Amino acid sequence: MRLFLSVLLCSAVLFAFLSPSVSGHSSESSGAPHPIFGFRDSAAEAAAEARFLAVPDPKLAEEHLRTLTQAPHMAGTPEDKATADYVAQKFRAAGLNTEIVEYKVWINYPSEISVDITAPAGVEMHGPTREHVDGDSYDDDPRVVMPFSGMSPSGDAEAEVVYANYGTPEDFDKLDKLKIDVRGKIVLVRYGQNFRGVKAFVAQEHGAAGVIIYSDPFDDGWWRGDKYPNGPWRPDTGVQRGSVGYMFEFPGDPTTPGVASLPSLPASQRVSPEQSAQMPKIPVTPLSYHDASPILQHLGGPDSPREWQGSLPFTYHVGPGPARVKMHLKQDYQFRTLWDVIGRVRGSEFQEEWVVAGNHRDAWVYGAVDPNSGTAAMLETVHGIGELLKSGWKPKRTMIFGSWDGEEEGLIGSTEWAEQHESELRGAPAYFNMDVAVSGSKFGASAVPSLKQFLRDVTKAVPSPKGGTVYQAWQKSDQPGAPSTQSPAEAIGDTRRMPAANVNGDVPVGDLGSGSDYSAFQQHLGVPSTDISSTGPYGVYHSVFDNFAWFKKFGDPDFVYEQQMARVFGLEALRMADADVLPYDYEEYGKEIAVYLDAAKKRAEGKFGDRPLDLNAVKAAAKHFQEAGTKILAKQKNPPRDPARLNQALRSAERALLVPEGLPHRPWFRHAIYAPGEYTGYAAVVIPGVNEALDKGDAERARQQLAVLTAALDRAAKALEGAR
Ligand SMILES: [Zn+2]
Repeated sequence: MRLFLSVLLCSAVLFAFLSPSVSGHSSESSGAPHPIFGFRDSAAEAAAEARFLAVPDPKLAEEHLRTLTQAPHMAGTPEDKATADYVAQKFRAAGLNTEIVEYKVWINYPSEISVDITAPAGVEMHGPTREHVDGDSYDDDPRVVMPFSGMSPSGDAEAEVVYANYGTPEDFDKLDKLKIDVRGKIVLVRYGQNFRGVKAFVAQEHGAAGVIIYSDPFDDGWWRGDKYPNGPWRPDTGVQRGSVGYMFEFPGDPTTPGVASLPSLPASQRVSPEQSAQMPKIPVTPLSYHDASPILQHLGGPDSPREWQGSLPFTYHVGPGPARVKMHLKQDYQFRTLWDVIGRVRGSEFQEEWVVAGNHRDAWVYGAVDPNSGTAAMLETVHGIGELLKSGWKPKRTMIFGSWDGEEEGLIGSTEWAEQHESELRGAPAYFNMDVAVSGSKFGASAVPSLKQFLRDVTKAVPSPKGGTVYQAWQKSDQPGAPSTQSPAEAIGDTRRMPAANVNGDVPVGDLGSGSDYSAFQQHLGVPSTDISSTGPYGVYHSVFDNFAWFKKFGDPDFVYEQQMARVFGLEALRMADADVLPYDYEEYGKEIAVYLDAAKKRAEGKFGDRPLDLNAVKAAAKHFQEAGTKILAKQKNPPRDPARLNQALRSAERALLVPEGLPHRPWFRHAIYAPGEYTGYAAVVIPGVNEALDKGDAERARQQLAVLTAALDRAAKALEGAR
């Protein structure tokens, strides 16, 4: 589901850090394996890794993808269940102890969706038009769901239209300055720059009667390049479906915050969906630019600010009217069954320590890129683990592979499973996520800082289809830090987002915001997480055109990037499961937090008049944490004979950063360092308690949140020092 913003970095800077070949493969063949961090016997580990790396197979990945995407398989449909059965069968064939876990969750399918122009007279538009291009028959299948917004209420609205650009708070401020009142109006916004649920939420805050979200050709259509089927970009009738749930307070089933939606959960323990903070109160629905064009073209009022102009061939005005639109939405809301597939390999030494790796399986339509490029790659990862198991290898820690359902509706399958297993996951060393594995050839990743170096090291051991290692290709890429599943729509300048701190002068790894299945693990339970992806030009996100034909033509024709992602994903899990000493880097974590605090200090300057914020205590705590990180890193490199205490200290540090009472107004989010942004949704807010208090200019809350952060950093530093 996730879309991300990219951070462009000067590639010249990165070339300076190019290192000689460090491929696990090449070193293996030369017979002299370089040390692998966390392992006493690097040669044995390198041998196991080489056996694993030899297995993932492009042809088999292609077969998985073809099977998984043969029919539309939205969460809760029989076709979704069929993909669960396929995944379960492959898990079992690899020797994983496999179960299909059911949850009952509140989601909508559309029953009637229409958007009509009712004025001016003579302008005709009845949408949404069926998605169609000549030369692609995927849209003929009657199971293709009509374009709609997940979690929108049913409702009718008829009103004049106001155009509000991307629907950010700043865009609404501009409308205010233009003296355009959106109260009672239908707000037309374009996709891009923020999560669609944020657009709906902000429009609702401003009193809109309804929201239409359309895909402008500027953002992911012909302005970017040739449109499908001639190119990878969005054709005229292509619509981006998606959830408009507001996941600022919590993701997952809207009726069960913090609790697993097991079928046995009594109704009395669920909150009523109408009460849920997640669900917008006004109707929201998506359109193609084919359908939105006549609405936009018939807006009067002032010219829109020039940067609001998209690529349709007329000047965009903001309205209101004279175009009037009637929205008619009838949603079919029910408690529906979701199916997570869970496969386990029991750990030989530390079976209580779960190393979890997951990908979602449900798609809005066929989902060749999002998410089944990830599922196909994960199945080849599991294939590789299966071959290792057959050779007699056993992981030290328990490995769990999760094929999540209902991610598109609101990260539901992963959230419910994580909530169900909260107590077991307290000891989990890591969660590895992969949503979109492949939409092109550029590798990118996000991670908690303690795993950034681990991730870089893993990519040094995996060959790239471009030659050399994935790490080397990543360094050369002009977009090295691009966290996964990036859409061009999101790539255009969001300057509010803090670029990933690059404290080591190495390839930057992005920060985890939200928008994919790591959220419950990292931000609710404090399980150190990563997210990986290989991306490229991709304009068919969440449309019927994200299908096998698109993928074969534009995504990864030879499935070699699928093979690469299966290897990187598997090596993450393998190394973490087998490490003698857990391979975290808390020194890098400490350095990043110092950067966040410097930025917060700058932001706080001049605020709060004669009672400025005092950051001395929190900076001292951060320094303490960083020093503890440096000390423990030295110990990790030169571990005692029995590393049990050392590992215990390492495992407890991340969880020490959880704030028991949660973030202000959103207790489900408990991580003191990372949360999804209130007005971005996808992008991470760092030290969210403090930064959001600064956003609001709330001095008292800022002081209180500084104290909370100081305490969390002290706890984490003490946890690391517990290794003594
Ligand atoms: Zn996805």
